[in-house]
Amino acid sequence: MTKLTSKLAMEMEDKYGAHNYHPLPVVLSKGEGAFVWDLEGKKYFDFLSAYSAVNQGHCHPKIVDAMVDQARTLTLTSRAFYNDQLGPYEKFITEYFGYDKVLPMNTGAEADETALKVCRKWAYEKKGIAENQAKIIVCENNFHGRTITIVSMSTDPDAKNNFGPFTPGFVTIPYNDIEALERELEDPNVAGFLVEPIQGEAGVYVPDEGYLKKAYELCKAKNVLFIADEVQTGIARTGKLLAVEHEGVRPDILILGKALSGGVFPVSAVLADDEVMLCIKPGEHGSTFGGNPIAGRVAVAALEVVKNEKLAERAEYLGKIFREELAKVDSEMIELVRGKGLLNAVVIKPKNGKEAWDVCVKMAENGLLAKPTHGHIIRFAPPLIITEEQLREAIEIIKKSILSFE
Ligand code: PLP
Repeated sequence: MTKLTSKLAMEMEDKYGAHNYHPLPVVLSKGEGAFVWDLEGKKYFDFLSAYSAVNQGHCHPKIVDAMVDQARTLTLTSRAFYNDQLGPYEKFITEYFGYDKVLPMNTGAEADETALKVCRKWAYEKKGIAENQAKIIVCENNFHGRTITIVSMSTDPDAKNNFGPFTPGFVTIPYNDIEALERELEDPNVAGFLVEPIQGEAGVYVPDEGYLKKAYELCKAKNVLFIADEVQTGIARTGKLLAVEHEGVRPDILILGKALSGGVFPVSAVLADDEVMLCIKPGEHGSTFGGNPIAGRVAVAALEVVKNEKLAERAEYLGKIFREELAKVDSEMIELVRGKGLLNAVVIKPKNGKEAWDVCVKMAENGLLAKPTHGHIIRFAPPLIITEEQLREAIEIIKKSILSFE
């Protein structure tokens, strides 16, 4: 058989796969900790962490061991029966995040869909909104996934174009705009406010200090559920276990995914208290794979790693170094550095026809992988287990790559 090279692997994806992504031209075949290797054996710092799914580092032995052990024992029962891993996992995760109940799903998008359904159910059965009248407020430039209902909430033309007709029931307001929220909350048919504590996909937009707290208080005053999508910001990424903790907010509905499994397996979850979650009755929502035994084992291991290895504290400490060091780089191409913990972005000003994409290609040549978002923003989100020494080495690669365009 022909030996698989990076070139061949890329050609195969191009020929046989749908063209729904535009990856950097690198073919990865191995990962460990903060590093990945391509098919030819070249080593890279991973500064994307699979969009913050690999917070615990690639192939974390404790998480992989839990997965392999469970895979040899029992993989899937569906929820037609009980399984011996789900109850212990549900007890663990609800105590870990401090909620009465969890509803397990697989992907982030499914968890977002679940939160929307739970919110609507609550609106009709508890808040007393008339049938089919419930509205959920969302923010401009949000990213919650790719399903029809989720793209119905999107303001990104690429996400929406030619995918209509869309799901009604959403009201869009600018992100980080308290007055706009206050105005829309006057409508008694509003059931929920869905928000990312930091807008990740939009380009790591950090709202003003106090925004989330104020938004939460306004929601409370109007009996509206505050729903936090922490799929990307949660699980220690921003320097706290949850990004809402920076403002002492406890969402009514919490959405988690990605790093809930350390990136080894699709695991997502929605957490809420009984008053909200028990609005969903048997048969009204679910998923064949949601709550499967492997997911339960993996999520417990992944969350234990976060606490045992103090990943939130590490993200907080290392994030400050990252922003400080990049702010010192003397390049016209760096317009702005922003972020929290180890979720950061550099806004790139094109120079001599060179853009964020070119910077990413150069960084890859120099041994560091990151990806532009929205053309001119590069997100930097390494696994949180990265050491200070490794981070400083990576910063040198980023500096060198950007300065090569001067
Ligand atoms: N919500 C947020 C905030 C995200 O960043 C993402 C993915 O990037 C999702 C939801 C969707 O997650 P998934 O790709 O697992 O469906």
